[in-house]
Amino acid sequence: MTITTIPPRPTLLDRPEQDMLIGGQRVPALSGKRFETRNPATGELLALVAQGGAEDVDRAVRAARAALCGPWGRMKGAERQRIMLRLADLVEAHYEELAMLDTLDLGAPYSRTILGKARAGSLLRYYAGQATLIAGETLDNSAPGDVLSHTIKEPVGVVAAINPWNGPIGMSVWKAGPVLASGCTLVMKPAEQTPLSALRFGELCLEAGVPEGVINILTGMGDAGAALSSHPGVDKIAFTGSTGVGEKILHAAAASMKRVTVELGGKSPNIVFADADLDKAVPAAAMAVFANAGQICSAGTRLFVQSPIRAEFMERLAAFTKTIRVGDPLNPETQIGPVVSALQMDRILGFMDSAVAEGASTLAGGTRLSGAGYDDGYFLAPTIFDNVTDDMTIAREEIFGPVLSAFSFDTIEEVLERANATPFGLGSGVWTRDLATAHRMARGIRAGSVWVNCYQMLDPGVPFGGYGMSGFGRESGPQHIEDYLETKAVWIKLD
Ligand code: NAP
Ligand code: MG
Repeated sequence: MTITTIPPRPTLLDRPEQDMLIGGQRVPALSGKRFETRNPATGELLALVAQGGAEDVDRAVRAARAALCGPWGRMKGAERQRIMLRLADLVEAHYEELAMLDTLDLGAPYSRTILGKARAGSLLRYYAGQATLIAGETLDNSAPGDVLSHTIKEPVGVVAAINPWNGPIGMSVWKAGPVLASGCTLVMKPAEQTPLSALRFGELCLEAGVPEGVINILTGMGDAGAALSSHPGVDKIAFTGSTGVGEKILHAAAASMKRVTVELGGKSPNIVFADADLDKAVPAAAMAVFANAGQICSAGTRLFVQSPIRAEFMERLAAFTKTIRVGDPLNPETQIGPVVSALQMDRILGFMDSAVAEGASTLAGGTRLSGAGYDDGYFLAPTIFDNVTDDMTIAREEIFGPVLSAFSFDTIEEVLERANATPFGLGSGVWTRDLATAHRMARGIRAGSVWVNCYQMLDPGVPFGGYGMSGFGRESGPQHIEDYLETKAVWIKLD
């Protein structure tokens, strides 16, 4: 899709102070505290956002509980579906504004954020479809006497969603879909770096007819997330974020035995065999890691290229990488914007230093970008490290920046073992024209998604999630909604 015009500045930003959304009302934090959210491309202050604390978490959870006990809890699936379809239309109608909020808040180019429009609409419509498909079963039993047994599916209750910053509006929609379809209620905490589009999404939910208190947006920092994950009134947590915070959430949830699903970090392998179509594999291997400035959980950060084509592949990859346009997110030509914050930039630069210190060679990038248009933001050059060994820091740890580590390999057996030698297991790519190689790799890789001759495909109907330290639970796909439902067995004695 070619973008020619950039929409106006979202009117949400006319209000310099942004409040939370609790029980259908935009309210400040009870403490009165606020935090800044800034544009990482320019440093501009976008808004002062209500900083929710434990007492606000409590209010939001109570509002969500009250909504569950109100008309929403008695609403039929078909009525929830009607509301969700209206929401899908509204989100699409306002997507330019939502995409602009993310572009300003996250720094992702508008040419990228606007691409989320089709996915947001189709996610909401997919889950809307599921709202009328929820069904218990009548199950035969062998118990003595005349006794019937059947199951009833019920919403699990109050859900807490805790989100990362790397795809804000898409993440809000993805979390809200199964909540609305199942008849649960939600307290959603967007990341501190990118709270704005979630607030606008909450307003659109109200406009679509989602009753007050069903979707609450609790802005705040990590302590608000921690208060949510230990609040006894929360029945389920849907967390997307780092593995470290995921571990904390599991501990916090244990005391009240909450249902938990966690979508965490990754260190995904992307594997190119000598018979691959290089015209496709070269740009795809670059964008598998550089898209969104490398801030994608399933980014293909470990590139394995089979020895016979290695020299040619790396040369073409470096040439392609040098054509990538990094810069102003509001320029329609821009492909990659800044990373989200100074903290994140410094972390990534630290990984780059470690690569050089540990003996990797720099094939492209390796630095912060400076000069006109760059100095006020956190822009990094797309970076390729060559001659990386499996034990280097950059080969093992999630960097979450535009940094690719390149390795070579000889055989399928060898590359499978090395690709799987990580505690993570989120995404993976395989490039080959050979059917047997494709199938053997798809079976052998330990990861939630295997993309063959493509990368980063997502669809509402296909499950996405992790193995190992990349978490558990699957979002999207026909089974996702099960995580939002309880199953009750009913026995009726007839004699
Ligand atoms: P993060 O630091 O783990 O933060 C995620 C969310 O958790 C934020 O809202 C954060 O609040 C909150 N939080 C922080 N401390 C908490 C605590 N003790 N208890 C509860 N919540 C807490 O992750 P991030 O840096 O925003 O995002 C990057 C990470 O997310 C990467 O590791 C990436 O791989 C992962 N990710 C995974 C997927 C997936 O689907 N598997 C998708 C996208 C991203 P603050 O905003 O205040 O920090
Ligand atoms: Mg964070």
